[in-house]
Amino acid sequence: MVLGGRMRNLNGRISAMDRLAIVVPCYNEEEVLKIASEALRETLGDLVSKNKIAPDSFILFVNDGSRDRTWELIEEEHRLYPNQVCGVKLAGNVGHQFALTAGLLTAMERSDVTVSIDADLQDDVAVIEEMIDKFHGGSDIVYGVRRERKSDTFFKRTTAQAFYKLMAMMGVKTIYNHADFRLMSKRAVEQFSQYKETNLFLRGMMPLIGYQTDSVYYDRKERVAGESKYPLKKMLALAFNGISSFSVKPISMILGLGLFIIVCSILAAVYALISYFTGSVVPGWTSLILSIWFLGGLQLMAIGMVGQYIGKIYMEVKQRPRYNIEKVLEGESLVKEQEA
Ligand code: UDP
Ligand code: MG
Repeated sequence: MVLGGRMRNLNGRISAMDRLAIVVPCYNEEEVLKIASEALRETLGDLVSKNKIAPDSFILFVNDGSRDRTWELIEEEHRLYPNQVCGVKLAGNVGHQFALTAGLLTAMERSDVTVSIDADLQDDVAVIEEMIDKFHGGSDIVYGVRRERKSDTFFKRTTAQAFYKLMAMMGVKTIYNHADFRLMSKRAVEQFSQYKETNLFLRGMMPLIGYQTDSVYYDRKERVAGESKYPLKKMLALAFNGISSFSVKPISMILGLGLFIIVCSILAAVYALISYFTGSVVPGWTSLILSIWFLGGLQLMAIGMVGQYIGKIYMEVKQRPRYNIEKVLEGESLVKEQEA
């Protein structure tokens, strides 16, 4: 079967040369754009000369509604290197997760494999080669994982680590110390495109896709220039979005708390009754304290119960794919029937 001039084997894996698209979301990155373009072009050239990717591989810069000269610079790079540097201009700033998704979905139709990386080159471009090797070895998703966080400030390091731990506690599967530097095969991006939810938290969604995955390790560097586009406010928003988009555990916790308080109120009842009969209480205290505890618990439990339904509705409206079929083994007669 020949698709787009490339040979595919039965599982859809392209066996000859794969066209790589490096997707780079950019928001106000005029200071780093040229440097990033040069480093990534060099990486592409290197991989092409080693025959690891097709010569028509390219970089796709996604301009996320930058207010500086980022887009002009992308246009300029495209003029200079029309085959290697491509660009997508979003009409306004939609945030890193959406910009990256726009880039991945645009690249999906034009490439066989994608690598997403930040414009500031904090992630090591040298490990892209290792990612491609793992892809050729059969992995559909290869995560770039930070070995250490020496270059981050103490604050960023501890908050980030607390975040991964909290996510795990909430039952959200994420890859520890992996941000959005990752390789995805075409079919992994295609499956990802089936997730229609608008509250995007890519790091949580990738493990849902399935397929064979692998990781490569690197040391995260300092930003080459410019400053972080992820201030604390955006980081907290991302963290909250990550938890609330993937887990209805907070609702279950309310239910649990309600039940716990009802149990407490029963204990309080025993205590209050003992106090009442031993005569060491102000009149009216017993009934008052019992109603407060019991009603409080009842209300929390009721809210938690209603929450369970809301949680279910929430999961339903996402309309996520329920499964991803990787392979089907079937008899030859069936295969012939389908081809006819
Ligand atoms: N970014 C984006 N839209 C935004 C914010 C950031 O496309 O609204 C891009 C940014 O240009 C960079 C990547 O997301 O390529 C990661 O941002 P940054 O390096 O500032 O985050 P940090 O590494 O500090 O967490
Ligand atoms: Mg960065």
